[in-house]
Amino acid sequence: MSDGTLAALSRRLAAREISSVELVAETLDRIDAHQKALNAFVTVDRDGALAQAKAADAARAKGAAGPLAGIPIAHKDVLMTAGLPTTCGSRMLADFVAPYDAHVVEGLKRAGTVLVGKTNMDEFAMGSSNETSYFGPVRNPWDLDRVPGGSSGGSAAAVAARLVPAATGTDTGGSIRQPASLTGICGLKPTYGVASRYGLIAFASSLDTPGPFAQTAEDCALMMNAMAGHDPRDSTSLDRPVEDYTRRLSRSKGARPLEGLRVGLPREYFGKGNDTEVAAAVQAAVAEFVDLGARTVEVGLPAVDLSVPVYYGIAPAAASSNLSRFDGVRYGHRAARYDDLNDMYRKTRAEGFGAEVKRRILVGTYVLSHGYYDAYYVKAQQVRRLIADDYARAWRECDILVGPTAPSPAFRFGDKTDDPVQMYLNDIYTIAANLTGAPAISIPCGFTRAGLPIGLQIQGDYFSEAAILDVAHRYQQATDWHARVPRIAAAE
Ligand code: GLN
Repeated sequence: MSDGTLAALSRRLAAREISSVELVAETLDRIDAHQKALNAFVTVDRDGALAQAKAADAARAKGAAGPLAGIPIAHKDVLMTAGLPTTCGSRMLADFVAPYDAHVVEGLKRAGTVLVGKTNMDEFAMGSSNETSYFGPVRNPWDLDRVPGGSSGGSAAAVAARLVPAATGTDTGGSIRQPASLTGICGLKPTYGVASRYGLIAFASSLDTPGPFAQTAEDCALMMNAMAGHDPRDSTSLDRPVEDYTRRLSRSKGARPLEGLRVGLPREYFGKGNDTEVAAAVQAAVAEFVDLGARTVEVGLPAVDLSVPVYYGIAPAAASSNLSRFDGVRYGHRAARYDDLNDMYRKTRAEGFGAEVKRRILVGTYVLSHGYYDAYYVKAQQVRRLIADDYARAWRECDILVGPTAPSPAFRFGDKTDDPVQMYLNDIYTIAANLTGAPAISIPCGFTRAGLPIGLQIQGDYFSEAAILDVAHRYQQATDWHARVPRIAAAE
């Protein structure tokens, strides 16, 4: 049962081969068994999960169950879950219990999923290695000495270790795709505005995007069906007709299912900066696409090299503003001893936030300050537009863009913590899709000789989620990288 995909588990539930109560009980035991090694969870809700599983079984007995009913999932701890701790990986919110559900949490609840717990993450979703969490680092199931990526490292590790078939994440600069890549699973960042940010604790509001993690593209599509949708409580949520993200997956297209697909290979993605094994695996994936009928086109994204400096101006600026609400008065932590109001703010924030969060607040306050605003913030927004223009030009020549998700496989703990710029460079391939708002997925496309997973990023134009899920699905029908299981999960 442990390596069942969401789709396979759903079929077994529908055929009554298993009950949700059995599935969830087994899931909870597996989470317990791996918690010490992986530290993927911050909260596990055993009683709540078993009660939801019972309800899902009852709904199924009445014939009122959709494909997600009774499926155990986990939410990144940046998403509000009514009545459960929602910590954002921070001391600031270590004792905070969410008063309501995020929109995507509501959607998945309505679909009958069973919430087993909240996953560990980089503090306030700031990080690429899950080393900034107040609750300690998450470990990569493929090699416990290495990072799982960040900031949604707990969700990625939980799916990779087959603790849950699917989980949620949020992606502001790559936090779904990069950990998916480093742990050998699939992670989709949808178009900005397709999934509501209501109840997602804000990091950088114009970039934050909820999305799913799962073993396969098909499972991501099933999750998206419950996560997408208009929500008037988020002013940037898009009012579009409801889509079935699985609609293109089952159509058989013969031996060359990608016939006619134009695969864009951005020159900027295939330079010297990539690990050689990553580069080779990505080239092999491109060859597979060609075998499946696609043709390649070289494209240029000249401004994309600037995406890291642009992002590390815009995202901290937004964070410095969004995190001003953590003042010891309204939410979370408050210093125990202080002299006056200002001293209370100062001590509360000094104690409540970790070093990376403080660095972002400092940078963000600086780029927004009088005298630097035009030189940094406005300039960054202008370059953001140039990057979007590059993509718009590329879409005239190709249907998808393909390249590595991250320049290297999972690195060791501590390797990049002393040099924030090295850490930030991990996001070089993922950030642009956040700056433009377009969708992108990471899927496994190989392993290093040392057995570390390698991720392939597929990007598409706005609202092309169903199309890129279909391309990923075709690739996964022809390859089995996504089916490999880390030893710690297979050993059961
Ligand atoms: N690694 C990036 C950062 O540290 C992206 C984070 C994210 O997507 N939440 O900001």
